[in-house]
Amino acid sequence: MQHESPIKRRPTRQVMVGSVPVGGGAPISVQSMTNTRTTDVDATVAQIQAIERAGADIVRVSVPTMEAAEAFKLIKQQTRIPLVADIHFDYRIALKVAEYGADCLRINPGNIGNEERIRAVVDAARERNIPIRIGVNAGSLERDIQEKYGEPTPAALVESAMRHVKILQDLDFHNFKVSVKASDVFLAVDAYRLLSDAIDQPIHLGITEAGGQRAGAVKSAIGLGLLLSEGIGDTLRVSLAADPVEEVKVGFDILKSLRIRSRGINFIACPSCSRQEFDVIGTVNALEQRLEDVTTAMDVSIIGCVVNGPGEALVSDLGLAGSNRKSGFYLGGERQKERLDNDRLVELLEERIRKQAAIKEQQIAVKEVKE
Ligand code: SF4
Repeated sequence: MQHESPIKRRPTRQVMVGSVPVGGGAPISVQSMTNTRTTDVDATVAQIQAIERAGADIVRVSVPTMEAAEAFKLIKQQTRIPLVADIHFDYRIALKVAEYGADCLRINPGNIGNEERIRAVVDAARERNIPIRIGVNAGSLERDIQEKYGEPTPAALVESAMRHVKILQDLDFHNFKVSVKASDVFLAVDAYRLLSDAIDQPIHLGITEAGGQRAGAVKSAIGLGLLLSEGIGDTLRVSLAADPVEEVKVGFDILKSLRIRSRGINFIACPSCSRQEFDVIGTVNALEQRLEDVTTAMDVSIIGCVVNGPGEALVSDLGLAGSNRKSGFYLGGERQKERLDNDRLVELLEERIRKQAAIKEQQIAVKEVKE
């Protein structure tokens, strides 16, 4: 059963990335980024849709050239999810994508060039109510900051971020969010702590270039987990050298583990041992795959024997406690008369989990109507 998270989030202002609120107490949004060539419109649209199906709230697309800006226009027309355009230096690209409907501009004002150009981008963003994301990365700090600090330090990252912040604030533009990413967990965590004390804008979390699918997920979970547990962070991206869909799944798993935001099934499964009465690992893996499309937040415990099975089942929406030939089955913490045949567990559980999810959805809909 889903319990409230004890985490108290730090208050921040709210910005709107298209229809998605970020900060100001809004649910922590999960982002990913396309890795197709943006000029390949079909491939990029297909990947954005796959990322959206995985549950992402926002997708970032890099727009390195004017040709990519034209492709962005077509991509925007064919997708629904809010899109962040990632631009590095060329202010003309920022102006183009703002015109083409970008929902957020990821651009560092200090990199745009002279004041006139900065003002043009800020005016375009102001006119259309498009937020800007300032993104500082330990790997690309300004030369003078590198020289001052000798190496990337938390203070160096925040000093760089605050330069960009100041440019926007001097133009009386406050519709922005900020990230200070590093691939080192301690560096990133300390930088985000400092940043969180320095600004009241929403914070975009990420451990950059975290690594491949497994190691990157672990590194991100530790870094983002530390920050989220302190209430820091309003939106996040897990950076993996893997399919962007995996980034979304890991992002939600991190939020789910901290009970901050739930989506889909939270499986509670024992590691299994020689006491197991059925193949726990095989059953859980098969169910995870078969039920990927379920978005209803629910806890399902799949435990191999009666040592821990009944205890976990009592606090789950649906539970299974392994037993000889037929296993104990629980709904809403209550033991059911029905026992499930160990030889058909995957199909029996899939059917019952889907049914429970549909009931839960209906209850939520009724509650919403009443409210
Ligand atoms: S719950 Fe039972 S099967 Fe699972 S690890 Fe513990 S003793 Fe083994």
